[in-house]
Amino acid sequence: MEPKEILAKMAGALGEDSWTALSEIGSEDHSGPFKVLIGTILSHRTRDERTAEATDRLFGKIKGVNELAEADPEEVARLIRGVGFYNVKSRRIIEVSRILRDRYGGKVPKSMKELLNLPSVGRKTANCVLVYGFKIDAIPVDTHVHRISNRLGIAHTKEPDETEEVLKAFFPRKLWKEVNDLFVRYGKAICRPVGPKCGVCPLREGCEYYMKIHC
Ligand code: SF4
Repeated sequence: MEPKEILAKMAGALGEDSWTALSEIGSEDHSGPFKVLIGTILSHRTRDERTAEATDRLFGKIKGVNELAEADPEEVARLIRGVGFYNVKSRRIIEVSRILRDRYGGKVPKSMKELLNLPSVGRKTANCVLVYGFKIDAIPVDTHVHRISNRLGIAHTKEPDETEEVLKAFFPRKLWKEVNDLFVRYGKAICRPVGPKCGVCPLREGCEYYMKIHC
């Protein structure tokens, strides 16, 4: 299947109803890279709904990098309660905010290398900031993106970082920004970790996983 066709079929099967926390956060007028960065850190091991609620609560009260850098960890933990490991994440996002204030003039850096120097920021988070915060071409690979790429047979990889490289070679650069959002939504609604809905999946004819099970 052609790369463009895969994305078009996913989008067609999903319709308008599905969403992801990061695309919501990234699409809000007042957001920007800082909110995306903090939202992505909060999203680790947490359902999208909880991430969106916690991010809204946090930024409803705390207005930006300087305020978060000076915030009380217990107050921040209370605001983000509901996301996994909220006590640890509270201290981390305060630490990240202090680094941004002290070393980067209160701005989120735009380069992968600098983003990776921040605590709690790995390649997936850095790529999310690039795509959803800066609208830069990149492919964040989370568990959904990794699983679906391997089920379809686009990738045959063990680690998300390897999958990222395969996907960057497979999809033309102009499509990179669409990949994470569509794959994550598809992974939540159709190609679920357990019990994928292959019967309604328009990609099944070209899917290695489906072929293995049904042929
Ligand atoms: S056919 Fe099944 S395993 Fe393959 S992409 Fe579709 S839902 Fe996922």
